[in-house]
Parts: sequence; C-alpha cells; structure tokens
Amino acid sequence: MSPAAPTPASPEAAARLRSLPKVELHQHVDGSIPAEVTWDLMRHYRLNPAPTLDEMRRFLEMQPGEEGTLLAYLDKMHYPLWVTQFYENISRVVEAICRSAVEAGVRTLELRYAPLIHTYAGLTPRQSIRAALSGMNHARRAHPELKLGLIVIAMRQHGPHIAKVLARQALAEAQHLHERTGVVGFDIAGPERGNPPRLFRSAYEIARLGSLGLTAHAGEDAPVEYVWQAVDELGVSRVGHGCAAVRDRDLLRRLARDRITMEVCLSSNYHTGAVPPGEPHPLSAFLEAGVPVALCCDNSTVSRTDAQRESLLAASQVGVETVERIHREAEALTFIRPETALPPQ
Ligand SMILES: [Zn+2]
Repeated sequence: MSPAAPTPASPEAAARLRSLPKVELHQHVDGSIPAEVTWDLMRHYRLNPAPTLDEMRRFLEMQPGEEGTLLAYLDKMHYPLWVTQFYENISRVVEAICRSAVEAGVRTLELRYAPLIHTYAGLTPRQSIRAALSGMNHARRAHPELKLGLIVIAMRQHGPHIAKVLARQALAEAQHLHERTGVVGFDIAGPERGNPPRLFRSAYEIARLGSLGLTAHAGEDAPVEYVWQAVDELGVSRVGHGCAAVRDRDLLRRLARDRITMEVCLSSNYHTGAVPPGEPHPLSAFLEAGVPVALCCDNSTVSRTDAQRESLLAASQVGVETVERIHREAEALTFIRPETALPPQ
C-alpha cells in the first residue's frame, strides 16, 4: 500500500468512516497549518515567497516525486515558521487546524507543538505555549464537543538540558493544574540518529512526576533499539511511528503486554521513507501482535491528508470494521482528562 495508490474505498465505506467520531493523537502544528492560512499571514507581512497560493502549496505540501525523502518532508515545515512567531498568529493557526480536524470528523484532538521554535521574535517559551492553548480555547468555543489537549515537544537537537526546561514549562500549563484546555503530554522529536532517547531521561522524569502523558518519536528514522529505550528508559505509554519495532518480535510482545500504543501515521511514513515504497505498512503486524494503535495524520498539510483520508487508507489495508474499532478504542488512549468546565470567556 502506498498513499499514491490506495485501494479505492467504496462509497459505503467512505460514508461509514465519515460519520465515525475520530481520535487524533499525533498531529504537529507546524506541518498542519492549512496552506490558505499560511498564505494569508504571509501576504499580511508581504513575505510571500511565491506569486500565487497554488505555487505556494508546492513549498508546503509534498509533491509527486518527493515522496520517500525525509529532507524534502522536513523542508515543508520551514515557511510557516516565518509567521508563527507572534502570539496572535500562533493562536490563529492552531484554531484553524482544530477547525479542519472537526471537518474531518475528529472529536478528540491532541496537537503537538515545539514551543522553542516559535520564540525567535521574543516570546518566552511559556507565552509560546499559551499562544497555542489560546487557539485551542477559541476552537472550543465554536466546537464545545471537541476534546482538546496540547503535547509539548522538546526538539532533540536542542539537547537534554533544554528538554528539562521545556518539561517544567509544560507542567506549568498542565491541563490538570488549571481545569481547562492545557498541556497533556510530553514528547521528543527531530533528528533521531545521534540523539537516542536515553539522553532525555531526566526531562521525562520531570514530566512523569508532574503526571503528564509520555510519548516519544522513536523508530521512525532510527533502529529498533531507540524504541526499546523509549519504553524502558523513558517509560512512555505511547510511541510516535515506531516503524522499526516491526522487526523485533520480543519488542512487539512487550508493547502488547504493557499496552503501549503505536501512533501510526500512514501517509507520513511513506512520505518520509520510514516505510519504503511498495512495502506493506507495519500497521497490520502491530494489530496481529495485539499492540494498541492509533491512526494519526502527523502533518496534515505536508502530507495532504486528514483524519478521514488516513482512515480510508487504513481501511484499504485492514478493513473498515477494524478502523472503526481502532478509533473507538483510541478514546481510552488519549492523554486528555475529562474536563468539568469550559475555558473562561
Ligand atoms: Zn510526528
């Protein structure tokens, strides 16, 4: 299976999946901003690097022929950073992402966000987190049925000390300390090789003591040892991608036994080359081994996808009933806690 040539879904399957309340547990802000919103913000500052929105899309979305190259994929994240350095803009793009998710049928949405790469114009890390939460609160007013939470990402290349600082900043905005939309989890992302999970043990200890949910990007562009480390040394209950785990039966047994969730991102994995073209996605192997999975977009704009499309793609591999079951069960895997009150106006 490849996102370029999925098995066409029947209209019945598409309709069933469209009405399915979906759970999205792994979606990045930077790679999910609707192209129109980035375009509008750039036009406001007269910064547009391309003369038309259609041409701009080529800088923001994977193009035919670019699939399978991690560098091309990561390049798509750079342009939105030009405009997401200001509180109001961050709030606006997050609100827009929430709105798009609702349109694709998402009812439980965890967005993840690296606060530090939005501080180049002077925001503090805490203000950067608050800006993203502000966008979520705006979205909640329009869609009170939407469950929302933010995962704070420490970028691996910034090192373990910065990760510890971010874990503390994340805690200060934790959902359970404020009884409103807040930070629900902690993650590491960015270049895996040379930045093994075990280096970030202290940051995860801080997040764990503060009762944040723990996840880590691991085994996307690195060997299976990195997934073992994330599980054994960081104590994560979810793993971002984890494609490498499919090659290790002992690890699959461990993930199943301890109910550690794989955040599966089908389109993204083919776009970055985490799964080579033409190879079956590990999704089926995870399911056969009894490993809990969630179906996620990763970067909806970069991968030109949404929760509905990812569900259809998964259904072409494992069937509609299984996809329905995955979303139903994923409700129990979210880091978002039940809320008692809407955010203040
Ligand atoms: Zn990711």
